[in-house]
Amino acid sequence: MRLILLGPPGAGKGTQAQRLVHKHGIVQLSTGEMLRAAVAAGTPIGLQAKEVMASGALVPDEVVIGIISDRLDQPDMKNGFILDGFPRTVPQAAALDELLKKKHIKLDAVVELRVNESALLNRVETRVAEMRARGEEVRIDDTPEVLSKRLASYRTLTEPLIHYYSERRKLLTVDGMMTIEHVTREINRILSAIGATEPKATPKAAATAGARKAAKPAGKKPAKTAKKAAKAAPKARKAASKTPKRAAKKAKKPAKKMSKKTAKKAVKKVTKKRAKR
Ligand code: AMP
Repeated sequence: MRLILLGPPGAGKGTQAQRLVHKHGIVQLSTGEMLRAAVAAGTPIGLQAKEVMASGALVPDEVVIGIISDRLDQPDMKNGFILDGFPRTVPQAAALDELLKKKHIKLDAVVELRVNESALLNRVETRVAEMRARGEEVRIDDTPEVLSKRLASYRTLTEPLIHYYSERRKLLTVDGMMTIEHVTREINRILSAIGATEPKATPKAAATAGARKAAKPAGKKPAKTAKKAAKAAPKARKAASKTPKRAAKKAKKPAKKMSKKTAKKAVKKVTKKRAKR
């Protein structure tokens, strides 16, 4: 399963990503987490990102594209992944399209957590208070001032991605204002509706599958049901996402389509830089 989680800071992307990781055995790729680790380790990328992150702005596209490109090549990606916090701009999305194409990886869906902005501030304040009560270190970009900046940046730079992925028939919108449990259930419901979830192989299921395989004559064509499911997927996607049209309308600025040439250039730039290092 290969997914992108989209939503403003505080929408619950991290929490839901962890639940998906646990349920489906996939890997969470959070650019925010990776950058924070780089800052803590004092790597060149970390040094470059530190100030930018503290101010609530975005680190340069080529930095995060490079991080993701490297990560997608790791062997633990084979079961699937969930991108959390990436892409965050239309150029990043176009570069990701290029990367996935080059690496022959297919994206299953983009799950948008739709939330009410005014409630976000409360959520973040509660999260910070809870972390302090547990004696945990609080992120320096989790203050109300920096959060307002991160929200503004989400609105102008990231929200156009709703239109971008809706146009590409990848967008599934979930009401992120429900309880954590409800949101998880809804995400799993829509993912299975589009056929993105493959049941985890339990020992019993694996044994049954093995027995079934052994009983089948060799060289038999793949089951018709898989073909049927693939055919039905676009319909299910439409039914699963209740508000794709509204989502597209809501995106204030229509996403500028990045030409294939420009996206290729962005990926090339990153590849060249890495080759130099
Ligand atoms: P997050 O944990 O996703 O809220 O990210 C924390 C900070 O890391 C952001 O405010 C940005 O400064 C930086 N960051 C994370 N992901 C990206 C990205 N895809 N593009 C640019 N900056 C990012």
